[in-house]
Amino acid sequence: MLLGRMQELIEQLVKLQALELARTRLTQEMRALPVELSQAHSDLTGAQAQAAEASGALMREEQLRTRLEREIAEHRQKAARFRTQLDSVTTPAQAAAIEHEIQFETAEADRRENEEFESLERTETQEGTLAKARAEVESMASALEKTRERVSQRQREYKVQLDALAAEREALRPLIDQEWLARFDHTAKSRGTGLAKAVNQQCSGCNMGVRPQVWNQLREGQLLNCDSCGRILYWDPAMTPEPKAPQPEPAPGAGRAPRKPHQAGA
Ligand SMILES: [Zn+2]
Repeated sequence: MLLGRMQELIEQLVKLQALELARTRLTQEMRALPVELSQAHSDLTGAQAQAAEASGALMREEQLRTRLEREIAEHRQKAARFRTQLDSVTTPAQAAAIEHEIQFETAEADRRENEEFESLERTETQEGTLAKARAEVESMASALEKTRERVSQRQREYKVQLDALAAEREALRPLIDQEWLARFDHTAKSRGTGLAKAVNQQCSGCNMGVRPQVWNQLREGQLLNCDSCGRILYWDPAMTPEPKAPQPEPAPGAGRAPRKPHQAGA
């Protein structure tokens, strides 16, 4: 193959690989979008669960106080009944027994009043917790809405970009030499990329060294397959400029100056 044609082929393959990599990247980013959305969903669900828990705790305290108040009233009524019985007692022993009952009922009522007071204190804290949880629910709901809008916007953008890349790809592929295209596709399928730059006598796809003769052929503009990974190797003079020669460049056609060992690269 003529060198000019070979250079064109390299450029086509480089462009094809860039298109394929861009397609892969966009597709992966697009697949990550639902993950973002489901994260926002679960943030909201979590906040809702906390609000429900705080609300449940408040309700339980109210139920507790309702029960305590009923019991307090019952003990106070019993104490009052015993007090009226005191009027009709006939012996000191009877009076002492009734006094004991009155003390017991009063103590039971007092104990429940303390419990009720503690419950009211807990309620004050829980009301603060519930208010915070409800604010969090609102904020998460609005975050979810924004995420939903952003995700659908980005999905539309990705679709446009992917369509454009697919069109470029379909236009480019028929221009590429079929044999090289088949080699490219074969390695791209198994390794993710079909083409690799040769840099510093190494394949940049697998980092294995290339034989000196292969390296020389690459630098002459040839395309060769990497012995290790099978990727198509090429050398890009623009990316690895020759070390500056101390003397003026030889005129075109004057022949290649012998390469010094230290210029071969590490
Ligand atoms: Zn390789």
